Amino acid sequence: MALTLYNTQTRKKQPFEPLDELSVGMYVCGPTVYDLAHIGNARPIVVFDVLYRLLRSIYGADCVKYVRNITDVDDKINAAAKESGEPISAITARTTEAFHADIAELNALPPDVEPRATDHIAEMVEIIEALIASEHAYEKDGHVLFHVPSDPGYGKLSHRDRDEMVAGARVEVAPYKRDPADFVLWKPSAEDLPGWDSKWGRGRPGWHIECSAMSRKHLGVTVDIHGGGADLIFPHHENEVAQSECSCPGHDFVRHWVHNGFLSVNGEKMSKSLGNFITIRQALEGAPGEVLRLMMLSTHYRKPLDWTDDGVEQARTRLDRLYRILAKADGLSEARQVAKSLDGDKFSNAILDDLNTPLALSELERRADDLSKMSAQELQQSLPGFLANADLLGILQKEPEAWFKGGEAESDVGQIEAQIALRLAARKAKDFAAADNIRDALAENGIILEDRPDGSTDWRRAG
Ligand code: AMP
Ligand code: ZN
Repeated sequence: MALTLYNTQTRKKQPFEPLDELSVGMYVCGPTVYDLAHIGNARPIVVFDVLYRLLRSIYGADCVKYVRNITDVDDKINAAAKESGEPISAITARTTEAFHADIAELNALPPDVEPRATDHIAEMVEIIEALIASEHAYEKDGHVLFHVPSDPGYGKLSHRDRDEMVAGARVEVAPYKRDPADFVLWKPSAEDLPGWDSKWGRGRPGWHIECSAMSRKHLGVTVDIHGGGADLIFPHHENEVAQSECSCPGHDFVRHWVHNGFLSVNGEKMSKSLGNFITIRQALEGAPGEVLRLMMLSTHYRKPLDWTDDGVEQARTRLDRLYRILAKADGLSEARQVAKSLDGDKFSNAILDDLNTPLALSELERRADDLSKMSAQELQQSLPGFLANADLLGILQKEPEAWFKGGEAESDVGQIEAQIALRLAARKAKDFAAADNIRDALAENGIILEDRPDGSTDWRRAG
């Protein structure tokens, strides 16, 4: 069975066919680094990590390139800096570090490239210039705007009509706009804000152009898969299509659009004002990352996911049960070394069918029950395939003993980085005693911390 994925643009499940099987590209919109990531942000991380693992298994790890950006220039970051008085570079460095630490706990593999927007200003300017030259964009009062009526294809991804688009984009009606739907490619920066010199004056990019530039730079003009949460379909992704395709006519920007559904908490939309906002870090205080991951995967990625304490406890019970079965199996480490590809079983069929992870998980559990009844010889045969499937879901990554000890080896990099991020947060809150305790506890385990001038922290092993 071949991989099929639902494509937001065609609104159909379609066979996934990359442009070049030797070089499969996936771009996923990453975080804007101004605050700790919440469990809603964790959903695309986990969903696209499963897709990444699956693509690597189908095409080979060397033939898949996963690019997930860091948005480190944005008005939300500027606002956070203004409020706290902390330098922008310190906010973005600290938040990026915390993001890495948090998602490592969720067993998310790092992407192949993690471009930062501020390193791609020249590429953004190049696309903006091409859009101006072809009259898809215009300059007015230091702003450069994309002129939506110049693009007959605009709206093809989100399937919205013009009135819905203008309302949905909640774009300001500004005097420098020719049309209310026009959106910003470049805007002027006052001296106290991040800015780059350009022919339109000192300014900074709009958010949408960042992704068009970074995906083109790292994956070429056509990307096999572009993903993110469903909230990004409009206006972010619609605008990316407009910018990318109008600046490179004749080439589709994306072959396959994949979007995850939204996560709510106890049936309510998660938001700061409702007070039901859960950071990944807070969720990790209650349950190990692998439990949170299994909770995410027990609902199909396109469906809404409701986060409840009961749901987390059910995920923990399911994982405990699987680990208990593994704990009784001999030859676990040897079995982990055996490479296995998808073998046409029910598990593979489920995951290949638009990432049906709930079905794949129940199939894995059924197979675990079989394993628990097998002879040593049968187990030797079946264990590698079982573990390879668990690996595709990114679960059962620990040794059962470590799992039941409630902790893992001190050497675990994700844990060390999580501690470092906690220490930075404590220092920021001027809780120096707590920060020193964390430093001392790490030192006892042979981990030495070194603070850098930009506010981030390096670590190394002693001796
Ligand atoms: P942001 O930093 O807000 O741009 O979000 C980063 C990623 O998280 C994007 O792909 C969003 O679509 C996704 N996201 C944000 N909130 C949620 C949520 N409640 N449920 C699912 N995905 C979300
Ligand atoms: Zn994006």
